[in-house]
Order: sequence, then C-alpha cells, then structure tokens
Amino acid sequence: MQTHELLIGGKWTPAQSGETFEVIDPARTEPIARAAKAGTADVDAAVRAARNAFDEGPWPNMLASQRAAVLYKFANLIRDHLEEIAQTESRNVGKPITDSRDEVGAGAYCFEYYAGAITKYFGETIPVSKPGLDYTLRVPCGVVAAIVPWNFPFAMACWKAAPALVTGNAVILKPASYTPLSALWLGRLALEAGIPEGVFNIITGPGSTAGSALVAHPGVDKISFTGETTTGTQIMKQAAEAIKRVSLELGGKSPNIVFADADVERAARNSVLGVFGNCGQDCCARSRAFVEQSVYDQFVEAFIDQTRQTIIGDPLDPATQIGPMVSLHQRDHVRRYIQLGQEEGATLAYGGDILTDGIYAKGAYIRPAVFTHATNAMRISQEEIFGPVVNVIPFTDEDEMIRQVNGTRYGLSGSLWTNNLSRALRVARQIRSGVLGVNSSSSVFIEAPFGGFKQSGIGRDLGMHSLDHFTEVKNIFIYLG
Ligand code: NDP
Repeated sequence: MQTHELLIGGKWTPAQSGETFEVIDPARTEPIARAAKAGTADVDAAVRAARNAFDEGPWPNMLASQRAAVLYKFANLIRDHLEEIAQTESRNVGKPITDSRDEVGAGAYCFEYYAGAITKYFGETIPVSKPGLDYTLRVPCGVVAAIVPWNFPFAMACWKAAPALVTGNAVILKPASYTPLSALWLGRLALEAGIPEGVFNIITGPGSTAGSALVAHPGVDKISFTGETTTGTQIMKQAAEAIKRVSLELGGKSPNIVFADADVERAARNSVLGVFGNCGQDCCARSRAFVEQSVYDQFVEAFIDQTRQTIIGDPLDPATQIGPMVSLHQRDHVRRYIQLGQEEGATLAYGGDILTDGIYAKGAYIRPAVFTHATNAMRISQEEIFGPVVNVIPFTDEDEMIRQVNGTRYGLSGSLWTNNLSRALRVARQIRSGVLGVNSSSSVFIEAPFGGFKQSGIGRDLGMHSLDHFTEVKNIFIYLG
C-alpha cells in the first residue's frame, strides 16, 4: 500500500513526526493508501516555502501570459491523466466513475478557463479631481491557504488552485482527511507543468490541528475555505485576529420549487439526482422540495418511481448513478436524521434503509430517503443532513411558500420549475440564494459565480468574480499637473 507524502517547496517529504493516517475506500471500507499526517512544524515549513516563493520568486512578477502558459500545460496534464485521477477519486470518495470523469474533465477546463481569463482581467482608469492619471491594478493577495472538503475533492481543489495561481499567489492546499488522494495528483502535475518550487504546496492532515495551524499562521494572507458552516465560523474568528482575507463556501439547505404549471413529470425525474447525486453529499442538494398542492401526489409518485430506477452500485461500475457515502460514520449520521424525521412526524414514503446485501455488504451504502408531509419547521428541513434525504413539502400560496423557502439560515442554491415566465422571473428574484436554476437542477458552471447568501458563505468561487477574491485592488495616482 502506497504512503503519500506532503508537497513542500517543490519536494515530497514525510511529516516531521513520521506519522501517517489511513485512507479508506468507502465502497469496501478497507484501506487503500496512507498519507502523511502533517503537524504544526510541517505547516510552518509549507508556509515558509510559499512565503519565500511569493516574496522572492518569479511567479507573482511573471507576465500574466507566462503564468497562463503554465496553467494551459497543467490542464493538458490533467487531461492526459484523466482516467487515473478519476479512478483514484472514485475509489477514495465512493463517487460513481462517470461523475468522477466529468469532474476531473471540469477540473482541467477550470485551469484552461483561468489561463484564458487572466489576460482579459483589467483594471480601471479613474477621472479623479486632481490633474493626473489614476488607475487600478489587481495584485495577488500573497500566500493563500485553500482548504477543501471531501465531497468534490478534485473539483474544488481546482476551483481554488487555478484562479489563485493564475493571479500570482503562492498556494498551500489542504484536502479533507477522508479524501486526500486526488489533490496529491495535482501536486505531481504542478511540478511537471513547471509551477516553480514553493508556489504550490500540499498539506495532508487533520483540520483540527494542521488546518487550524494553517489558518492561524501569520505567513498566510488569505484563506479560501469550503466546508461546514461551523468550521467556517471558527476560521473567520481565527482570521479576524490578523484581518486575513477570507472567502467561505459553506453549507446549504436548498429548495426545489415545483409549480402546478410546470412539466411536473420532467421536474420530478430531473429532481432526483438534483438531491441524490453524489449520494446527497452536495452543498447544493435540493433537499427541500416545495410542491404546489394540486400536483403534490403526481410529483411524489413520479419522483419515487424515478428514485427506484436509479442505480445504486459500485463506484467503479459505469452504470452506477449513486455510490456509497464517504464513510460509515457519515452514513450513520444520515440514518439518525431519518429516525429524527419519523419522530418529528414526517412520513417516510420511500427508502432510508441501510443496504447490506451482496456488493453493498462492506460499503457505506444507504437507500435514498423520501419524506412526504414534512414541514419547513422540522429539524430535517432546517439542518443540513448532507446525505440522500429529501423532504417534500406541499404549498398553496406563493408568498407563504417563498417565506418558508427563505426561512433557513442558509442561502446557497435551488431550483424552480414553472412554464410561466413572469412567475419564474418574480420568484427567482425573491429567493435568497447565491445561485438558482429555472427548469433545471444545474447551478454550477466554471464560467459563472458560485457561492452563498447568509450562512452559506462569503465571496464567490468560479467565473471572473473569483479573480477578485484572490487579488487586492491597488490604486495608483500619477501627478501630471
Ligand atoms: P468540514 O468543515 O468538516 O471540513 C472541510 C475542510 O476543512 C477539511 O479539509 C477539514 O479537514 C478542514 N477543517 C476542519 N476543521 C478545521 C479547522 N478548525 N481549521 C481549518 N480547517 C479545518 O466540512 P466537510 O469536509 O465535512 O464537508 C462537508 C461540508 O462542506 C458541508 O457542510 C457542505 O455543505 C460544505 N460544502 C460547501 C460547498 C459550497 O460551495 N458552499 C461545497 C461543498 C461542500 P479534515 O477533513 O481533516 O477535518
């Protein structure tokens, strides 16, 4: 079994303590690798390497087009190794192989997008009130800590690394402890692509120690974090001490609104993977379905029928649409929420049982759960379960439904289904979320800003907006009087 090391200053190195931890395949619950368990000394070494690369190195001062050329090469290397990375991701996360291939391909595209974007990222000239030329520059923040979760490990590492690198920052990437393997691929390819030593570093190890040390380190200028809202709160508090720049992509409890005038069958069938895709471990999962009363039964019937047909299986089987959860711990956490929903009085209309026969015997498998006659006030409607559970809530009045939709601490994503254009425009404007799909379960695009309102986060990943979060605005005035 391979033991993976940390990438610090362009060199692969074990943790200074010599400690490692097991990486588990959740479809078989058996170890597939070991990874170095970084401690505070390793974090310090990584930050010093990044600091040196940023303060002394050529990277921040290179022409934008030169950095872009390195990122294009990086993207090509990802494509060259797409199948190996996708296999790694599926074995480590339990993600269906077709999804992993898509996500790794999207990771390559993300590098291409930012390589192309950086030479079209402009400053301003400003007509100030003195004779002269006033203009702005966008300069890198410095050393960026990119901390990512386990549900989309490769994709999210790319979402942060590509814009951070192309703008001239030095990066320390910390993947989640469940799923470090695909991020380590990025380290290998970064060296091959010609990213200078120390510009891209990877630390594997516990968030509570290594992650926290990274956030607190005085050599870090900016933290770009995706994960739970509670972790985001801690990070923001720690970052406040030194006024570090922070962007946070946090939890969600997204609505899926179905009006009676929609194509209800299509809405129901498309909504299934909108909540159960990635086994529900998706911050955008449409876990609260608000369905107009007159089509409620029709929607529930079509939704359950489609769920029944969805193939739950081995992540490496191309037919699989839903794999296991990332761990037995996460599966048991979801099971407890399913019991809670029943205690709260919602009707468990389908699924929710742990799968134990045949290929499921050793994995963290659970059948997606559909709760009907749920209310928005229930804990299962308010708390992010982060598993394959949907609550279908009836509504009759549009205004009251919108109040309920907005009645959570989250505001990340959502969908609405209607064939009435003015209703679509009116309701889309009123939903308090960062992204929304109309007649679609899609809301994440490399080219468009992604992030949340309220406790779903601060800042935006992806699109041109992300470049703003990895740069500082510098204003320069040249006196010409
Ligand atoms: P966590 O917040 O537990 O962990 C996320 C990352 O932060 C991991 O790398 C983790 O390391 C690290 N970490 C944990 N504690 C600290 C700390 N004190 N300081 C610094 N780093 C720390 O989230 P999960 O991994 O459980 O991911 C699931 C969550 O992510 C869900 O709430 C989901 O909604 C959210 N998410 C949000 C998205 C968005 O864009 N809004 C997208 C995807 C997910 P370790 O693994 O070692 O604990």
